[in-house]
Amino acid sequence: MPEHDTLRRFIFEQLPVQGRHVHLDASWHAIQQHRDYPQPVRRLLGEALAAAALLSAMLKYEGTLSLQIRGGGPVHLLVVQCTSGLHLRGLAHWRGELAEDAGFRQLVGDGQLALTIEQIRQAERYQGIVALEGDSLAASLEGYFARSEQLPTRLWLHAGDGPAAGFLLQTVPGRDPAADAWQHVTVLADTLKPGELGSLSAQELLHRLYHEDDVRLFGAAPVAFRCHCSRERIEATLRGLGAEEVTGILKEQGKVHVDCEFCGRGYDFDAVDVQTLFVPDAQSAHSGARH
Ligand SMILES: [Zn+2]
Repeated sequence: MPEHDTLRRFIFEQLPVQGRHVHLDASWHAIQQHRDYPQPVRRLLGEALAAAALLSAMLKYEGTLSLQIRGGGPVHLLVVQCTSGLHLRGLAHWRGELAEDAGFRQLVGDGQLALTIEQIRQAERYQGIVALEGDSLAASLEGYFARSEQLPTRLWLHAGDGPAAGFLLQTVPGRDPAADAWQHVTVLADTLKPGELGSLSAQELLHRLYHEDDVRLFGAAPVAFRCHCSRERIEATLRGLGAEEVTGILKEQGKVHVDCEFCGRGYDFDAVDVQTLFVPDAQSAHSGARH
């Protein structure tokens, strides 16, 4: 049975190792619809989305996990987000012409990778930042886990013209696996070919790698593209720009039009809307009404 847009968890019955597998199809295609990404940027974005879905288990409560790359190469910004409800969105900014086969380092150059966890029930947000390293996004993320005293974690990511897919192995908290057990599971996963990751279902993949181990595969959770943009959030962004700038745009264009970069949805603000945004009394009366 082919699986589309699903995240599945598995555990090794005899080893303190757990894992996840994600396969993105319609969700991944929907995210690409809003921009004409060059092939290598599209591949990197697909890999990042698969990674965000795999890492969403780091959300213990309702919230959002974000991965952000600030690169020194042609791809200077890449943002992907996955919510605890497995809603994905993402975008990438690039400049210049890119070779079809441009690899990770050529795309991002030197730069930083930030992993942010925002949970609704916790006021504090968590952010970890590491330098981009190695020859792949997976290597950079593994570097993050190695450095931040998180659980030992390995990732395999693939995005081509078809689906985007990812595979993750992680030790079980509080139960350090013997070095040879961890090596056993990761060496086998290293034999995965990129095409296999994109084409095999979780069950087929686990059978291909670990048919001699006892692995329990859990049910599939659906993953979907969904943008959580709203008029309120766009208003907050406009306020951040300041009255002078926004009024300037209004004068020039007759209205202020903002497209959400993640989903392409358009928001319009006319003169009255803009005035309301920047009237201090209206704002304080508004917030006062909530108390
Ligand atoms: Zn949106």
